Amino acid sequence: MLVAEGLTKSYGNVHALRGADLDVEAGQIVALLGKNGAGKTTMISIIAGLLMADSGTVTLDGFDAQKDLDRASKLIGIAPQLTGVYGVLTVRENLEFFANLAGVPREQRTIEAKNVAERLGLADLLDRAAGKLSGGEQRRLHTGCALVHKPKLLMLDEPTVGADVATRAQLIDFVRDTAAEGSAVIYTTHYLNEVEALDADIVIIDDGQILGRGTRDELVDQHRMQGIEFTMHDELPDSIAQQLDAVAVGPSTYRVSRQIPVGELIAGLGPLSDQLLGVETLRPDLESVFLAVTGGSLTESDDADETVGT
Ligand code: ATP
Repeated sequence: MLVAEGLTKSYGNVHALRGADLDVEAGQIVALLGKNGAGKTTMISIIAGLLMADSGTVTLDGFDAQKDLDRASKLIGIAPQLTGVYGVLTVRENLEFFANLAGVPREQRTIEAKNVAERLGLADLLDRAAGKLSGGEQRRLHTGCALVHKPKLLMLDEPTVGADVATRAQLIDFVRDTAAEGSAVIYTTHYLNEVEALDADIVIIDDGQILGRGTRDELVDQHRMQGIEFTMHDELPDSIAQQLDAVAVGPSTYRVSRQIPVGELIAGLGPLSDQLLGVETLRPDLESVFLAVTGGSLTESDDADETVGT
């Protein structure tokens, strides 16, 4: 459905994209995962034709999307980060307006607007002005406007920022349904739990470059951090830490980057073993993958990483 190749974009001396590739098939959800400023918005803005790339190509269903923006815009639905619904129009009018822009015939617009409102929990609010909706309701409407015309390629730029847990779960469910019905979806986020809930193909972007791609399990397998962590009552003498290949990762907490039996650890600690407070096997997760691939943590700046129901 989408093949983007070699995209570059600079804003002055900021290199927002440095030769990034992305392809998405019909029915597939790709989660574009990256820290603030990684280049996610720039990438989807270029794919949507809202921004010109310095170089690179965007092919949609086999045609050059950058050369035929009209044709491309009919296939694409995009919900940018900032909510963009019309406050004076009702929920129904907003949905029908965006469906109309995408060329959906009148009768079909009415049906689709109702359908989307129902699926996003807005059915009782169809006749309310969008300006009088809560923030979470506006978020849902904003997303609804991007997909009311059943785009072949749906792009959602951090759609759950500022949304409560229920709204997040509702959006995630709708995105999954939309893909199941055949749309290709690109979903940008820095919330790891959403990526897992979407069961998406994960693309890791950092500093304008794509650094990894795969399902959660594939990435975890590729970048699995083997080993154990153990905590002592006091700091270990350097000589013992070196003997065990143990690296300090916290106050009196050490990591050994291989699986060693507890017996071997205790033997290695010798008389200090009675100071051992706890041993933990390292559990591979997406956060550790992100750390291994980009060298930086995703959750440092992510204070809203709440549980998402599916
Ligand atoms: P976030 O998660 O914060 O939304 P992002 O991954 O979407 O980040 P982009 O918005 O694509 O990142 O930004 C990539 C880089 O380009 C950043 O360094 C950003 O400051 C810079 N940038 C983006 N838009 C502009 C602009 N209009 N002018 C100058 N620099 C820009």
